[in-house]
Amino acid sequence: GAVFLHKGYEGSKARYQEAVRLIPGGVNSPVRAFRSVEMNPVYIERGEGSRVFDVDGNEYIDYLCSWGPLILGHAHPKVVEAVQETARRGTSFGLPTELETEMAREVVQRVPSVEVVRMVNSGTEATMSALRLARAYTRRDKILKFEGCYHGHADSLLIKAGSGVATLGLPDSPGVTEGTARHTLTVPYNDLDSVEWVFQKFGDDIAAVIVEPVAGNMGVVPPKPGFLQGLRRITSDYGALLIFDEVMTGFRVDYHSAQGRFQVMPDLTTMGKVIGGGLPVGAYGGRREIMEMIAPAGPVYQAGTLSGNPLAMAAGLATLRELRPEVYEELERKAARLEEGLRRNAEEAGIPHQINRVGSMITLFFTGEPVTNYDGARSSDAKRFARYFRLMLEEGVFVPPSQFEGMFVSAAHSMEDIERTIEANRNALKRL
Ligand code: PMP
Repeated sequence: GAVFLHKGYEGSKARYQEAVRLIPGGVNSPVRAFRSVEMNPVYIERGEGSRVFDVDGNEYIDYLCSWGPLILGHAHPKVVEAVQETARRGTSFGLPTELETEMAREVVQRVPSVEVVRMVNSGTEATMSALRLARAYTRRDKILKFEGCYHGHADSLLIKAGSGVATLGLPDSPGVTEGTARHTLTVPYNDLDSVEWVFQKFGDDIAAVIVEPVAGNMGVVPPKPGFLQGLRRITSDYGALLIFDEVMTGFRVDYHSAQGRFQVMPDLTTMGKVIGGGLPVGAYGGRREIMEMIAPAGPVYQAGTLSGNPLAMAAGLATLRELRPEVYEELERKAARLEEGLRRNAEEAGIPHQINRVGSMITLFFTGEPVTNYDGARSSDAKRFARYFRLMLEEGVFVPPSQFEGMFVSAAHSMEDIERTIEANRNALKRL
């Protein structure tokens, strides 16, 4: 195949050197610093469809897709047009607009367990607010989460967290008080026995179990058959709420999100990423009886100056409206082909590997062990991943800069993009 001529990173390097003097670590979110892949961050100039272009003039097939939101690819014409048209009428009012009701209608129609939904500005806000609500509803303090799952950076959720916390190998964050940390219980993902045991011990004090229904923040880890159903049964038995954190999986793994795909109904659902079409958005929703405890319908306070922002609603609505059920079949087909190609290449190269995939979320782990939880993910060869990441960039393909993240296939990726990616992967694995 054609050799992609990489132009180097001089422009990115210069911009980064300027940024580190003004921004902590040079970035506004830790994963962007590329520490674990041992290089400087790549500065992006623009995106279009399946491609991103960096400041040095390199073009990449992009599987980061802004860490998940861009299921239609970069600068989708319908999304750009919706944002432009809305902006002309004003960017924010702090008063209700009809766009918010339209968004709520779309969410309620698609996400089976959601009857009422509140918009916020990030995934972090969504999970933080859902926990407050769960604690208020059950009048209990403790929550149970899973090792390697990431639910944003609210204090009580920064315990044994995935994503950047895992990438950087950080211990539980300083600044979280002991009193807060004490109320967060953690067990391994996919381990129902441990969940049972914790509930036998603390069941009357647990307000909620929060879980990524497909884990994406320790790399992609699918739920074992029966795991989500087991969580539903145990939480119901003990009067605790089940919260699906669908910030990543929502509108990504199925038209009806993960809860539709696996047919398990949580009490509360958190959303983000895709629902904002690339603008800053989060949401949480669930059963009416619980959601109507939120102010001003009820006493649980939660608010936001920019919540339900018109531009964000317009971008999200334009995205959701493009996401008809057939789009998910198409994503499945392309992602399955990618999986098959990556597996064949790794086998041919004789490199120990595991490929986990659910719908359009895929991770290639450099380990021979099955990856069903965080310990499995951590058995991966991080040095090898770092080298692989850099080689893929040189081959013109942008994968997430961490072993503990998933690739996202978008509707903008063509079958030709997928085939080129498989070829790039074959070359990279040979050079490892
Ligand atoms: N929950 C999950 C499952 C996520 O993947 C993320 C972000 N990666 C968050 C919550 C936090 O979202 P945000 O970064 O928008 O605060």
